[in-house]
Amino acid sequence: MAAEIISGTELARTIRAEVKKGVEELEKAVGEPPGLATILVGDNPASQSYVKMKQRAAQEVGMYSRQIDLEVDVTEDELLGWIEGLNADPAVHGILVQLPLPDHIHKPRILEAVHPAKDVDGFHPINVGRLNVGHPEVLVPCTPLGIAELLVRSGVETRGQHAVVIGRSNIVGKPMSALLLGLGRGGNATVTVTHLLTRNLAEHTRMADILIVAAGHPHLVTAGMVKPGAVVIDVGVNRVEDSTRERGYRITGDVDFEAVREVASAITPVPGGVGPMTIAMLLSNTLKAARALGVPVA
Ligand code: NAP
Repeated sequence: MAAEIISGTELARTIRAEVKKGVEELEKAVGEPPGLATILVGDNPASQSYVKMKQRAAQEVGMYSRQIDLEVDVTEDELLGWIEGLNADPAVHGILVQLPLPDHIHKPRILEAVHPAKDVDGFHPINVGRLNVGHPEVLVPCTPLGIAELLVRSGVETRGQHAVVIGRSNIVGKPMSALLLGLGRGGNATVTVTHLLTRNLAEHTRMADILIVAAGHPHLVTAGMVKPGAVVIDVGVNRVEDSTRERGYRITGDVDFEAVREVASAITPVPGGVGPMTIAMLLSNTLKAARALGVPVA
């Protein structure tokens, strides 16, 4: 029987409506809405489009939003100056520096400059540490947080299950494994994390009750790599050539969706799975940051 399709689009809509209500309540209580600032360096079209989507989403839920566009040759000190300004701005509760950054900018220095309480991407080492020790005042990276929310709200039990994560990036794989291993929502799993140097990848994936794939490799996961009845979450966003499309490409995930859906019990599509959840959780993190900071934060 074909797997249930877990719709991130639908769930993200629900979460955005919840955030909108939270924004209205907070604004009523303190007179100011939560604020999200995004910084974009350069003119990478994909980054431009991501930032635009994030800004639009923030406006739709009634947040104050601010977009800072910087030239690709902006100096590291100038960029740090902008971040310091936003750290001190009482109207801004969430700061997001869109990645990737140009090579002349030292990414860790930038990510560490964002105040941890406004770090809605959850990349500051303080938030990374808090996630790993189970500290409640943490901002968790949006993509893994969205996946945990997808699992919980779709009724997928993680407790005691064997979760296998493909990928060990700081953005997806590592925080995902921390959430699955932790004691919170979507946690208490037994976790295996795999990467490019993992031997016999399929031996690991076939053990998974929950398989989370974040490799950036189209169709890496085939039907034979999935245990019958497993839940499969496809994080990958890959452009593959497609001459039948006007733009010459289509977006596909890391999982061979059509084949794997015949084996799995539930699966996320690409697009329409994890992607919309990432933006919904950015809004949720911004609301959480504003509540924790108190609005305004002068
Ligand atoms: P990344 O930084 O490139 O990390 C990819 C990870 O996958 C690495 O740990 C790599 O191993 C591992 N890997 C790559 N190929 C593999 C293979 N053949 N077998 C086993 N492991 C393999 O990428 P990322 O930022 O985590 O993103 C992963 C994918 O998710 C990308 O397609 C990205 O576009 C997508 N993504 C989507 C969203 C969303 O909101 N939908 C958000 C973030 C990312 P090594 O560490 O050994 O190199």
